[in-house]
Amino acid sequence: MKITVIGAGPGGYEAAIMAAKLGADVKIVEKNEVGGTCLNIGCIPTKALLASSDVLTTSLEAEKFGVFNDNTYADLKQIIERKDKVVSGLVKGIKFLFESNCVNLVRGIGKLIDSKTVEVKRGDGSVEKLVSDKILLATGSIPICPEMFHYDGKRVITSTEALALKTPPKSMIVIGGGVIGCELGQFFNRMGTKITIVEMADQILSSEDEDVAKQLVRQFKREKIKILTANGVSDVNIQDSNVVVTLKNGEILEAEMILLSIGRCSYSKGLNLEEVGIKIDPQGHIEVDGNLETSVKGIYAVGDLINTPFLAHVASKEGIIAAENMMGKAKTGLHKAIPRCVYTDPQVAAVGLTEKEAQKRGIPYKTGSFDFRALGKAQIIGKIQGQVKIIVDEKDVVIGASIVGPEATDLLAELTMAVHFGLTAEVLGDVIHPHPTLSEAIMEALHDVHGKSINKVSLRL
Ligand SMILES: Cc1cc2nc3c(=O)[nH]c(=O)nc-3n(C[C@H](O)[C@H](O)[C@H](O)COP(=O)(O)OP(=O)(O)OC[C@H]3O[C@@H](n4cnc5c(N)ncnc54)[C@H](O)[C@@H]3O)c2cc1C
Repeated sequence: MKITVIGAGPGGYEAAIMAAKLGADVKIVEKNEVGGTCLNIGCIPTKALLASSDVLTTSLEAEKFGVFNDNTYADLKQIIERKDKVVSGLVKGIKFLFESNCVNLVRGIGKLIDSKTVEVKRGDGSVEKLVSDKILLATGSIPICPEMFHYDGKRVITSTEALALKTPPKSMIVIGGGVIGCELGQFFNRMGTKITIVEMADQILSSEDEDVAKQLVRQFKREKIKILTANGVSDVNIQDSNVVVTLKNGEILEAEMILLSIGRCSYSKGLNLEEVGIKIDPQGHIEVDGNLETSVKGIYAVGDLINTPFLAHVASKEGIIAAENMMGKAKTGLHKAIPRCVYTDPQVAAVGLTEKEAQKRGIPYKTGSFDFRALGKAQIIGKIQGQVKIIVDEKDVVIGASIVGPEATDLLAELTMAVHFGLTAEVLGDVIHPHPTLSEAIMEALHDVHGKSINKVSLRL
């Protein structure tokens, strides 16, 4: 079986390697660097920067632990260099995986000619035609930049340019208080930039519950990050040394830069989709069936190109499912438990339904919660803000959960498993959790669903 993949992000490269492992002869076409958005301008670089700001914060608070360090400061240039080193090491890793799995990397811009042929235009202008039995489209997404914001990559930037800034701007207006806006907003704030976040919805992290977002708002306010919610932008004016933003309520903001983080859209430009007969939905996603096959037999699509959450772990999972389907394994569907993670301080992690989603769907539910403040490990490491919240249905099955606090994104795995397998709070809460660890907060929250948390402070006066 010959397979051609276009796009070597997490969706494309994991599909390519899985198909090769299953015996396919695989070619993968990439116009930039392997690893896609996630590795080069997304997940990995943002988290590498945040790791540096975490070290800075810990170092600034060292005295609380009896450790003294009089000369703590951050050098953004060196932080960026470290980030680049992390990225290039991982890029090399993917290239090595391609070689060791006999996946053939073809450099250039790919486009469809028909259901079996991909044409690749190389940097030197030469063109190659790749003929295969099956094709996978995994060309990802790009930032949304409406014209009114006058995006120029210098004064009005997206996350892509933000990740390469070598000196922190004096001030920055972050438009969009979603995951990327919150992560980069807090990072630059800690680098010394005065940050204002403008969010159209009533709260930042608008898809999460209010109590979850409030925890992050509390920390942002402590750090003097200004948050303006329920407000949109009506005008952007780029001046000599400043950008002036007029909000819908008439308020005027000025800053050195704007960071646009209002979302991303599928990127299928130049793929020739219409000519080949591939259907696209009104939002520009490629339409796929439960097997991730497009409207043209033998052509599959995954990741940010299709209408599933724009997340690297979703793209990877879909890549693996598509590879198995292309190789005749008939794997269907995505999984119901998709983790959602925000790597701010405190971290925010959630899975399954929120309370507001359960209410909207009319699902009767109960909750249990536990504050990190009451936990030995949280006190030991000096990170006491946040809580675990569990949401169960009438049968005690965990249908959703959120964690705000230290290592929330790693801790979520246990609750993702609970939602995935439909475990009850009673069954999961019966598991012994090691002491002293942060995972005990999950156990206590599970017990709290039945009013049996030993360490939760409840006022029964
Ligand atoms: C700042 C930021 C932070 C993020 N953080 C996280 C996070 O912490 N966790 C998380 O899960 N997700 C995160 N994401 C989202 C994540 O990066 C994407 O969901 C993921 O990369 C999508 O994978 P993909 O394979 O669909 O596409 P991409 O990773 O976008 O890869 C597509 C690839 O296709 C190539 N390509 C496009 N067109 C062509 C063509 N015609 N020919 C050849 N090659 C082509 C591109 O160059 C690119 O390499 C973040 C995104 C951003 C922007």
